[in-house]
Amino acid sequence: MAECEHDHGGPNGLSGHGLHHALVEADARCERAGERMTQPRRRALELLLEAGKPMKAYDLIATFGEDGRPAKPPTVYRALEFLSKQGLAHRIESLNAYVACEMGDRNHAAAFLICDCCGATEEVEPFAPERIQAAADKAGYTVTAVTVEAHGLCGNCA
Ligand SMILES: [Zn+2]
Ligand SMILES: [Zn+2]
Ligand SMILES: [Zn+2]
Repeated sequence: MAECEHDHGGPNGLSGHGLHHALVEADARCERAGERMTQPRRRALELLLEAGKPMKAYDLIATFGEDGRPAKPPTVYRALEFLSKQGLAHRIESLNAYVACEMGDRNHAAAFLICDCCGATEEVEPFAPERIQAAADKAGYTVTAVTVEAHGLCGNCA
């Protein structure tokens, strides 16, 4: 994401105890869902949580190895796909990026307010996702993900 010149009052990402807690929580969620939180999956989530903003897959690839070495791209893409499926992260199509989920729930419909100046995003409750589901049911359509993306300027950049 491009760095803008507006004041955002420090980083949004998690670190220390907050980061540890979020990862433990994610482990527990995977276990409840009968899924395995493998090392690459955990590392991808850790990087997203640390960033606290949308990250492109290739940004993650570059810093993926704990020893600072890059990862194999398919490893990272598969990990991100898993996190999205579990609702631990979301793919934001219009940014071609992934962001850690802020809601903490199983796979769910998500909406994002996206700042076109600083690239910050905020996850909010989508409006009436059950109506999309109802329309899909009527059309005989199986929905795998619903993501609403609202572009504009955040409070710091407006
Ligand atoms: Zn979410
Ligand atoms: Zn902004
Ligand atoms: Zn800005």
